[in-house]
Amino acid sequence: MKRALFPGSFDPITNGHIEIIQRGLCLFDEIIIGIGLNTAKQPMFSPEQRERWIRDAFKEDARVRVQSYTGLTVRFAREVGARFILRGLRSAPDYEYERNIDLLNKYLDAEIETFYLLSHPETSFVSSTLVREVIRFHGHLEGLLPPHIIRDIYALYPGGKPVGERREAR
Ligand code: ADP
Repeated sequence: MKRALFPGSFDPITNGHIEIIQRGLCLFDEIIIGIGLNTAKQPMFSPEQRERWIRDAFKEDARVRVQSYTGLTVRFAREVGARFILRGLRSAPDYEYERNIDLLNKYLDAEIETFYLLSHPETSFVSSTLVREVIRFHGHLEGLLPPHIIRDIYALYPGGKPVGERREAR
């Protein structure tokens, strides 16, 4: 049984994360999405809300589970019996960032191996940080987040819908 941990903040989970998880399921029998709660940043969404959205996104798939954690990612990976960590790579800065985390994780626990998947072109520009900006300014979220999350967020917008139109290329 190959079990992987997919750690991150998921504030909120995006179509980019979901795409990595779906492709990760070709490599691993089970993926545990770990919501890391130890970042210094103040999150936009509560851990409970983030967990609920993730659970709903994978409610049809028993191979994907979600759990919040604090402390070291490698320690949490051991706790949940995951020998593997899954991460996504969008760009060269992602690579630089991930490389240092990888080296640190190996230093802390050499038995845990991290696997990387390159993001898809359609979602490689999507980050939770940018999505939070769109949410803050009441923009359109189609294509960035799964529909059930968009529905919940639009309900919080004034009038329950995004401001203005989204213009597509002709
Ligand atoms: P962090 O808070 O550590 O940046 P995130 O929650 O943003 O973590 O992301 C968790 C993982 O998902 C990271 O490996 C990140 O590179 C990856 N990821 C985020 N957005 C995308 C995307 N659009 N395509 C592929 N991977 C992504």
